[in-house]
Amino acid sequence: MTDLRSFIPPYILHRIVAHGSEHQRSSAMSTLAHVRTLRHTPGPPVRPAAAAILPATSKRGQVQRSVHDAQGKMLLPGMPVRLEGQAPSGDPAVDEAYDALGASYDFFWTVLGRDSIDDKGFALIGSVHYGQDYENAFWNGSQMVFGDGDGEIFQRFTRSLDVVGHELTHGVVESEAGLVYADQSGAMNESLSDVFGVLTKQYLLGHTADQADWLIGADLLTPRIKGVGLRSMAHPGTAYDDPLLGKDPQPDHMRKFVITQEDNGGVHINSGIPNRAFYLAAKALGGFAWETAGLIWYDALCDKRLSHETSFSAFAKLTVEHARRRFSANEARVVQRGWSQVGVETTQEAP
Ligand SMILES: [Zn+2]
Repeated sequence: MTDLRSFIPPYILHRIVAHGSEHQRSSAMSTLAHVRTLRHTPGPPVRPAAAAILPATSKRGQVQRSVHDAQGKMLLPGMPVRLEGQAPSGDPAVDEAYDALGASYDFFWTVLGRDSIDDKGFALIGSVHYGQDYENAFWNGSQMVFGDGDGEIFQRFTRSLDVVGHELTHGVVESEAGLVYADQSGAMNESLSDVFGVLTKQYLLGHTADQADWLIGADLLTPRIKGVGLRSMAHPGTAYDDPLLGKDPQPDHMRKFVITQEDNGGVHINSGIPNRAFYLAAKALGGFAWETAGLIWYDALCDKRLSHETSFSAFAKLTVEHARRRFSANEARVVQRGWSQVGVETTQEAP
């Protein structure tokens, strides 16, 4: 078992190993074997050594990016190919990573007033072309890493902005709340990455809660796979249903909560429950989700009372409290209703 924050959960790779073609199986097997060798040390993000190549800046609100090419090897960070302010490289993976890191930074700074991962201008390092047909993206505690996918099931992982936002949010959550990556606190950790990943996308596209697709990884699957993305926050459990990948296993209600040893206690599975609570609250509040539910969830994430081993219900109570504090009793009721519709009770009564 690994607690590395990787995007593609192990149960999907196991399905490909069991049912894929020879090429698909070998890509999935080497990705799985590699992910097992990685250990992510819990704790606040560690400044990457590669940040040294970026000019120092003391000004808040200034993104510092560098994108590296791992050139098909599994050594990090790889060759620096596009530093902050440099022109597009012409390599789509490099330029997508650069733009997505910029869009994610911009979302956190403009909407939430947060200066990068640690709120102190943490340099954003991304490595692309990691490994051969590598079927994953991950945050390793100091930088983001993106594989190319096998081209048959998964396309390159820089294609979906929300995937980049998701990985960056893992850094934010670690820096802010240190949520333990197992069981309910792990699923809450995963859900927060989906929430701020999807909000980054909605913010860039200018989509209201009604216009948004609420999908995570919508641009990752190739047309051969029967599915619309990796996860649906609106309707967990419906993102894909495919002979190779199987059916999306996410529950949309506490009564379907999955008890499993796999996937750190189902962190990518049970995250469907808080994901849907967020979606329901955002839809009911209306308008741009980052101006309403997004701020409430961010307040709860930054609340020092949030335990490292939070339950869904403890997190939910904080959101109800912050909804009232930041907005009014009406918003608090809406948020409470969102949680209650997925079976998470917030004993704190909204008036
Ligand atoms: Zn994740």
